[in-house]
Amino acid sequence: MILDEDVVRHVGFSGRALDILGKSDREIKFQLRKHTPEGRIVDCYLVYHSTARGPPCKGGIRISSDVNLEETAKLAEIMTYKNSLMGLPFGGGKGGIAADSSLSPEKKETLISGYAHEIREELYSGAYVPAPDLGTGPRQMADIFDITHNRSTVTGKPVGIGGIPGRREATGFGVSMAARLGAREILSSDISDLTFAIQGFGNVGAWASKFLADRRATIKAVSSIKGAVYEEDGLDIEELYNLRGELGDDCVNEYEGGEGMELGSELLLDVDVLIPAATGGVIDKAVAEDIRADMVVEAANAPTTGDGDEVLEERGIPVVPDILANAGGVVASYVEWRGARSGSKTRREETYQVVKENINEAFEEVSNIASETSLSMRKSAMIASCRRLKETMEGRGWV
Ligand code: NAD
Repeated sequence: MILDEDVVRHVGFSGRALDILGKSDREIKFQLRKHTPEGRIVDCYLVYHSTARGPPCKGGIRISSDVNLEETAKLAEIMTYKNSLMGLPFGGGKGGIAADSSLSPEKKETLISGYAHEIREELYSGAYVPAPDLGTGPRQMADIFDITHNRSTVTGKPVGIGGIPGRREATGFGVSMAARLGAREILSSDISDLTFAIQGFGNVGAWASKFLADRRATIKAVSSIKGAVYEEDGLDIEELYNLRGELGDDCVNEYEGGEGMELGSELLLDVDVLIPAATGGVIDKAVAEDIRADMVVEAANAPTTGDGDEVLEERGIPVVPDILANAGGVVASYVEWRGARSGSKTRREETYQVVKENINEAFEEVSNIASETSLSMRKSAMIASCRRLKETMEGRGWV
């Protein structure tokens, strides 16, 4: 459970509310045995943490070798709080497939089709509406649509089958917005005067880098799973971005315009802002003790461990938490889902505008709570989210 004492006290949660939020509503696990890479058995999960504000439960499907039930449940819980912070009519859910994230689209297609077949009742009933996460993207969402043939059953689809322009880049766009707001409100600077290190150059990291570079931020380092690169005067993000187009998400080590670095050292660089945009748990106690950035913007889900967070707080390094910083994706998914149900059409500018408004409003709400309570941005974001959840559960007569 990611609720802490300060949050519980400020929200005034009863024991009953804590019992409800203290465990997953539902956990489904199964194996895929046929048509899997090398004929291996593949463990799969679907978790609903809270349906208080749903159904549907909303959260991406992750393909990664590390996927397990515990991680999927934790990510579903994060989605409960993120969706509530953004005021969306969604519970928190997450899907997981324990397989190599770098499989070819064809191999992923057989896995994701098998997965969608197994959870078909959840999809058809609208109980779970998936979206992309680590190791999945529009192509895999199209694979799900090929099974359900219903546009409102999955978001993050390619444009043409109900995907909306701007959804693909929405999480990275939201991260860049959160970084701009953090720079202004916390560091009293404009991002064009700041230096950045970004871990991960997939959907979220690459788009966040691009939007930041477009605003003349200096991005000194980026990484992907096969390596990190550094350039004191700033990397050529356009070139890296094009390289990703040719070679895919794990391309950074092939970039020739900077110095290669040991993977992980990008987290410890002397930059103004650090953006972890890859995977969870990378800022643990030891890393947090050595971080030299003045601010962390969490683009990945749960990149900071509990111990790591305590150290960052003790050291006075502000963190714009994941449920705020990376919420642009689920906000855009909401626009896509709503459009699929109403038949309305969405323009790219509209997607950006909705993400911008939602991140702005949530940032302001969280900053106000942080000033009133003197608590961290993370705890303040949880307070804002949980106040909404409490009201919803009271309205439903659950507490
Ligand atoms: P992705 O699969 O598109 O890209 C992941 C990137 O991280 C790749 O470049 C990969 O090489 C790199 N990577 C993986 N492990 C690494 C490591 N140890 N060190 C350095 N690089 C590493 O994934 P994504 O969709 O960009 O998701 C990234 C993170 O953002 C995840 O934590 C995900 O949960 C979170 N997130 C994604 C979305 C979304 O809309 N896709 C929304 C909210 C949050």
